[in-house]
Amino acid sequence: MIDLNEDMKQAEAWLNNTEGEMSEDQLIYLAATGFEDCPDFCGSKKYCKDEACSCIRATFPTPDHYHLYLLMRSQAIEWLKQGIIANAVSKEAFSNEKCQEEYK
Ligand SMILES: [Zn+2]
Repeated sequence: MIDLNEDMKQAEAWLNNTEGEMSEDQLIYLAATGFEDCPDFCGSKKYCKDEACSCIRATFPTPDHYHLYLLMRSQAIEWLKQGIIANAVSKEAFSNEKCQEEYK
């Protein structure tokens, strides 16, 4: 059972924390796969402001790391989308070539 007041106190401390280490590899991995360790029923996020719930605090040493992750994540999603589009375009180009082949 998590102590509500203790959790809020820790969230407050975490929000003011600027020191902490997190490997670049881990950040890149999370940006690529997405951070999904905070379930919808997370009790902590209900009363810890600014997304400072215990799941996020357990993974990211400081809010800066978390915000960096969010930036990298949205970039990763952009790349994924572009990848999907690039893939679709190259398939189309391929089938066009095939069409032309058949008309020769
Ligand atoms: Zn959570």
